[in-house]
Amino acid sequence: MLDWSDSEKCLLLSVLLSVYMLFYLAWHLVTAFFTDFGAQYISPAGARQFTGVLLFNVIGYLVMIAWAAVLRKKRRQSRLFVHCFVQFFGVSFLLLGLMLGLYSPITGMVLLGSPLVGFILFGFRPVVWSFTVSTLMVLLLAWLSASGYDIYALYFRADPTAKDSLSYYWIASTVAFSVPFVTAVLTLVSLLLRRWVHREAQVRAMAVQDPLTGLANRRALFDQFAHEIARARRAGEDLSVCVLDLDHFKQINDRHGHAAGDTVLVRVAERLRQTLRETDRIGRIGGEEFVLVLPATGRMGAKNVVERCRAALYDTPIVLDDGTALTVSASFGVVVAAPGMEATASQLVSQADEALYQAKQRGRNRVEFWSAVTSATA
Ligand code: GH3
Ligand code: MG
Ligand code: MG
Repeated sequence: MLDWSDSEKCLLLSVLLSVYMLFYLAWHLVTAFFTDFGAQYISPAGARQFTGVLLFNVIGYLVMIAWAAVLRKKRRQSRLFVHCFVQFFGVSFLLLGLMLGLYSPITGMVLLGSPLVGFILFGFRPVVWSFTVSTLMVLLLAWLSASGYDIYALYFRADPTAKDSLSYYWIASTVAFSVPFVTAVLTLVSLLLRRWVHREAQVRAMAVQDPLTGLANRRALFDQFAHEIARARRAGEDLSVCVLDLDHFKQINDRHGHAAGDTVLVRVAERLRQTLRETDRIGRIGGEEFVLVLPATGRMGAKNVVERCRAALYDTPIVLDDGTALTVSASFGVVVAAPGMEATASQLVSQADEALYQAKQRGRNRVEFWSAVTSATA
């Protein structure tokens, strides 16, 4: 509902409010003419006026429904309509307040709940006007009542909330008419909050995830990586780092299309994830380049794991949705950081990158380890 157009929101609210006012009208007709409460508390003139007010409100909301329906049919938006709806909302409840007594829970509820709902649904501008006008009117009416004008709670001849003439019928009625209003306000606010929480989670995921493969993106990978380096140092353990790059990936895009290339990237990510341990970290740091961070893994362990990854990609062809089977290989460059080594994450990645370059040179689809000696002579 929060994504609807303003006219559609006004349409829904007009339907709900016309039903609300009709219920009020039905309650009033029964109460004023068929109950002891009516005979005891309601003034005949007030009853006639209240009938008029409620009919006016019902007809007003029906007009709003018709207007919104026309706009909807013509697929048009109208700011004038939204302003008129919001102003009419204020007027309709002011009239209720004037009849039933402004010093009532309904006034407080409407003054607090309506701007809240209004801001959520329509934004600041249309609502703040209506709210200001309504608040000034409430103050004016209160001042007039206090100055001796007999305009307070025109509906009643005796006060059903005074201590010596308290009416439970009236209290129950007030509660019954408040509940739908409060429920609607709370539902809307909770909807909005849930949406905020959901969006924030989405934004947070987007900031750390590669949208195509769901792996950690470059930034998140380097964050995790720095964390792993510190942990390996504290624990006095080896840490292995591998950079891998798919072989001749450009050909896959050229022959089968970019979408097929994307599918291959997704499948490669899945296979890497399935092959590695829970505690290993995987990130996609470029087009078809991935980084693996393997905690508590020395040279022998790294050789095993990375060789397993190489085989996981190469030994089983990737089958595209159209049935095409593609044999995909990758070249791997690995560096092992011993506990004494004071290397940063980016130094380790560039060393692994050097080893990867060698793997490409030596024929691709293979694993090479970085060593200070070969690096110095390269
Ligand atoms: P090499 O074996 O030397 O790595 O050859 P290569 O073709 O894999 O290398 P190159 O770096 O020339 O090409 C990488 C290609 O990856 C180029 C680009 O079109 C493609 N690529 C990069 N990012 C994406 C992506 O997100 N989706 C798809 N489908 N292709 C991508
Ligand atoms: Mg490549
Ligand atoms: Mg590349």
